[in-house]
Amino acid sequence: MISHARALIYHSREDLRIAEVPLRPLTEGEVLVRIRVCGLCPGEIMDWYMAKKAPFTPGHELVGEVVAVGSGVTAFRGGERVVVHHHAPCGACRFCRRGDSVHCPTWRSTRLIPGGLSTYAIVPPPVVERDLLPIPDHVPDEAAAFTEPLATVVKALRRAGLREGDRVAVIGLGVMGLLHGMVALRWGAERVWGIERLPARREIAVRFGILPLSPEEAAERIREESEGWGADVVVVGPGSVEAIELGWSLAAPGGTLLLFTPTPPEARWPVDVHTLYFREIRVIPSYSAGPPEMREALALLSEGLPVESLITHRLSLEEAPQGYQAMRSYEALKVLVYPFR
Ligand SMILES: [Zn+2]
Ligand SMILES: [Zn+2]
Repeated sequence: MISHARALIYHSREDLRIAEVPLRPLTEGEVLVRIRVCGLCPGEIMDWYMAKKAPFTPGHELVGEVVAVGSGVTAFRGGERVVVHHHAPCGACRFCRRGDSVHCPTWRSTRLIPGGLSTYAIVPPPVVERDLLPIPDHVPDEAAAFTEPLATVVKALRRAGLREGDRVAVIGLGVMGLLHGMVALRWGAERVWGIERLPARREIAVRFGILPLSPEEAAERIREESEGWGADVVVVGPGSVEAIELGWSLAAPGGTLLLFTPTPPEARWPVDVHTLYFREIRVIPSYSAGPPEMREALALLSEGLPVESLITHRLSLEEAPQGYQAMRSYEALKVLVYPFR
């Protein structure tokens, strides 16, 4: 029986340590996974967000292998390669019945022990029952590691009401922005403009059929290329009022401004309600994702969505802090951590 895990502990932005963490025996309904790979999430370099959770073990984009099951678990017996979600809803409460997994109290209280950036993790019963997904044999670990981030994109574009023929603008062409562009095109968007200040990232976007624009030229070019109307769906990647303002200036009448990333708690956006009303702009936040989106994301990966070309760094657990550094300096796109490397 495995009694310890080696895990990354986040104390503060400058203080990330590797520690031996004791693992208690499994209780009813739990599963132990050996973690094969875990992606680093852009949310993990959002310092205000991390500070309120510290100290803890980050990592929620993981692929593992079931190595032990608690009593009462019948769906897994050991040896299965799985995508492990870090939260799962109860499936029965008022929020679950309305399809709002992320507001379910069970979703909010479930977590992996200790977390994804670890050699092993205990998976709680709600996740085992509702969001521990066997990976088809033809899907490699590195593609499967995109399931959770891709699920948040699936949810965001669904909430935005994306329709075939829509014109989409995506602000920010990091991994999440590129994934939004890829999925929007796959779902029939007429065109996707990608707005990004870094030329290197604009070049990468072209490979996926995204039309790159700098923030300075975005408003004028999008008007020119849309008979003056703007974008039907604007995905605001960065969690800043400045990015929301830019998105606001790009939305077509009847369009949707999708807020993908939280702003810090003190941020305020003074919105022109008069224009919002007469242009009928919908402002839609989208936070995380639940079991249906996880399944849809894994299906997209299984069909070959070309996500692996977004991987720029493959690191050991000890090197994970360098991965965060490379994300902060915009050198990295997707960073994958191999706990057993
Ligand atoms: Zn994430
Ligand atoms: Zn629920």
